[in-house]
Amino acid sequence: MPRTLQPVMAQRKIIHIDMDAFYASVEQRDNPELKGKAIAVGGLPENRGVVATASYEARKFGVRSAMPSKRAVQLCPDLIFIAPPRFAVYKTVSRQVREIFHRYTDLIEPLSLDEAYLDVTEDKQQIGSAIGIAKQIKAAIRDELQLTASAGVSINKFVAKIASDMNKPDGLTFIPPDKVEEFMESLPVNKFHGVGKVTAEKMNGLNLFTGADLKRLSEVELVRLFGKQGSFYHKIVRGIDDRPVEPNRETKSISAEDTFLNDLDNPVEMKEQLDRLAAIVTNRLQQYELKGKTITLKIRYSDFKQLTRSQTLPAAVSDQETIAATVLQLLLKTDIQEAKIRLLGVGVSNFADESGHAETAQLRLF
Ligand SMILES: [Mg+2]
Repeated sequence: MPRTLQPVMAQRKIIHIDMDAFYASVEQRDNPELKGKAIAVGGLPENRGVVATASYEARKFGVRSAMPSKRAVQLCPDLIFIAPPRFAVYKTVSRQVREIFHRYTDLIEPLSLDEAYLDVTEDKQQIGSAIGIAKQIKAAIRDELQLTASAGVSINKFVAKIASDMNKPDGLTFIPPDKVEEFMESLPVNKFHGVGKVTAEKMNGLNLFTGADLKRLSEVELVRLFGKQGSFYHKIVRGIDDRPVEPNRETKSISAEDTFLNDLDNPVEMKEQLDRLAAIVTNRLQQYELKGKTITLKIRYSDFKQLTRSQTLPAAVSDQETIAATVLQLLLKTDIQEAKIRLLGVGVSNFADESGHAETAQLRLF
């Protein structure tokens, strides 16, 4: 039989590592009295705070990240709050985790203090397989830092990230190259990261429940339905995600936004949501030790018209009160009488250090 020559395809090996309930796990590690208990790291309910991270014990009650702390206490009355969060400590631990990663690769792209993509195609230590590398990283994190991480291993970022979430905590999930397309076909659309609650509902309403359903639509059709994300869906359901792992990615702004299942039509609800978004943004700014001068409000109305309004303050800020008050003022300057609001977003940019000098913030966290 004649041999067919296969072209050599450069296939990447990508690991996504996600620390398990990171801030809460660090607190439980450092204070044994908190072990086995429902705890939440974040802002206090009386300060209109939000949960940054909940321990697995608290998650059993439905407590989640980005949830208002007030709501968290309703769900779990015995919840112990760790406030304020000890960001300096989490950052140190994050740096220790990064040092472990660097033993295996220099291509590291942090997504936050507790999450990163690693491109291990080069195999710095000649371990022989990406799964082997992921196992060693997990073991080092456990032995040296007394913490657990979950890993997803595959040929691209998208699949690796979904995989790391599949067997949490302390998971290791490998999606082999020849199974990627099948994996994407069977994946429910609400598990696609980047597809929020509202888009998932829209998809389900169109009888699109899995990757296989999306795959039946042409790229043109997907773009018509979902905007430019449609092109990405078209590729990803075929297992294609060419985005490289990018070390030293710059952060130019920090923001949070939410699409609502039911349009907001009264100012009280709007204010509540802005408070919550401001709290999330504040947490992130403090995590990265950033302050910004420009505060931005984003509004999308029920007819999909979008509006952004910004205000630049005399000094850089990172506190919830100022951010919340500024976006509320910006909102009140718009016409809210008849407004039906589908999405609200809060952002801070134009970062500066204490002395007012402009600063390029890099995610040098891992
Ligand atoms: Mg995590």
